[in-house]
Amino acid sequence: MSTLNTFSSHNPNSGAILADYPNTSREEVFATVDRARTASQQWQAFSPRERKKVLLRWCALLTQEVEQIAALIKEETGKPISDATLEATLAIGHLAWAAKNAEKVLGPQHRPSGLLMFNMSASVEHVPLGVVGVIGPWNYPIFTPMGSISYALAAGNAVVFKPSEYTPGVGALLGKLFHQVSPIPHLFTVVTGLPETGVALTESAVDKISFTGSTRTAKKVAASCATRMVPVVLECGGKDPVIVAADADLDLAAEYALWSAMSNAGQTCIGAERVYVLESVADAFIAKIKVRAEKVHPGAQGSYGPATMPSQLNVIQSHIDDAASKGAHFLIGSTDSVKAPYVEPVIMLDVPENSTAITEETFGPTLAINRVASISEAITLANATRYGLAASVFSKRHGKEISRQLQCGMVSINSVIAFAAIASVPFGGVKDSGYGRIHGPEGLLEFTYARTIVKQLFKIPLVFTSFERTPFADKFIKAAVRLLHSKGLG
Ligand code: NAD
Repeated sequence: MSTLNTFSSHNPNSGAILADYPNTSREEVFATVDRARTASQQWQAFSPRERKKVLLRWCALLTQEVEQIAALIKEETGKPISDATLEATLAIGHLAWAAKNAEKVLGPQHRPSGLLMFNMSASVEHVPLGVVGVIGPWNYPIFTPMGSISYALAAGNAVVFKPSEYTPGVGALLGKLFHQVSPIPHLFTVVTGLPETGVALTESAVDKISFTGSTRTAKKVAASCATRMVPVVLECGGKDPVIVAADADLDLAAEYALWSAMSNAGQTCIGAERVYVLESVADAFIAKIKVRAEKVHPGAQGSYGPATMPSQLNVIQSHIDDAASKGAHFLIGSTDSVKAPYVEPVIMLDVPENSTAITEETFGPTLAINRVASISEAITLANATRYGLAASVFSKRHGKEISRQLQCGMVSINSVIAFAAIASVPFGGVKDSGYGRIHGPEGLLEFTYARTIVKQLFKIPLVFTSFERTPFADKFIKAAVRLLHSKGLG
């Protein structure tokens, strides 16, 4: 059976149907992965320089079509065109970096063989995995999956991409544009579909899955892949904290924390959801963020758009209600701020640490601000979560010192989200925010495996890997180990 079924994408502003896409069946997903395997073998035969040329051609084509891409992102997610354009340009930046740096990062490396093995040469090669399955979310439908797609392709793999069912058009357009530059059929294929299509991809013959989405789904993906020992990268949700120290630039902290929490309707995995502000500057910070927040409103032409996924509105409402019932105060908004499909900005103060607005990912334009007596209390509370994606620290003098005590994958000092736009640094989380890394050299290495090759350069009289090993060789190795490694005891 092939792709008989279809499903529709919607404009979240109006609810209108945008287009229909194939709901790719399990059989078709499996067949696509088989075709991708042949493509991966052909792609691996290309030199790194040839691969770079192809990917830079795709990069140029995406750049040429950036307006078309941004318009489609806006249609499917509801975000403002300026945000959609920024997202597309950042994705293109990552593709260019991956294409240009793959050869240098993944080239063979010689390693020292050590005194006892001086007659051997040792080297490590980074070998493409084969076919990488990428499963994406809807909140950044080009930026997020391209963090896996471009790095996996640059590392020499073929890719099968399952976009979110909320943003299938952006995925399909990416595939169509790649097709125009691809020297090989089926090197990058997009399989649109509902969650079952994602399930099928995790059960197919892929060599790795790179998943971005909710923690709940990530656990199912990891469990499915574990049955066949297929490795996974999991980029999941967060509950990112912002720490505002006593020596912070409060205008900057208020401006950036507000944008981080509210932009994209709060649907940013690395967006601020909690602020811990030092008591001594809390009143001033709260006054500054209030003035700014009063000017922010959602709408088709607003500062941000609707909730892309209508069911998320219930989660946002429940977190606001739970915080209110436990005693939180409203600086901006109220329990009536959810007005489908939009959510007005909500900023709550003194939010109990056991309320879901603090413990769970809200994924809406809400922010909880709590006062702390010391930086160490801020750090403790920032870390007291099952998530560990990213964080921001506002401090003129202690930014690095505070950052180093945070249990998360990425920290911005005196800025927010900046690391996502720097292609040379890895992106990813710890704890329930996932594992593995995209972006940067680590993101290229993630889509390869290390193959060690050692070679005997010449034979020496002392052999260890043979039944001919002599008592003298035994003595020699003991003496050598003593000489080399016994100094630590003084
Ligand atoms: P989701 O988990 O509902 O879906 C993600 C993708 O998985 C979709 O394509 C979906 O069809 C597919 N899917 C669903 N069930 C599946 C299954 N059992 N097996 C395989 N695939 C399946 O997430 P979402 O609502 O699309 O995205 C929002 C979430 O993504 C938020 O939690 C957000 O924080 C997170 N996110 C994380 C990052 C990051 O880099 N860490 C980036 C963006 C979004």
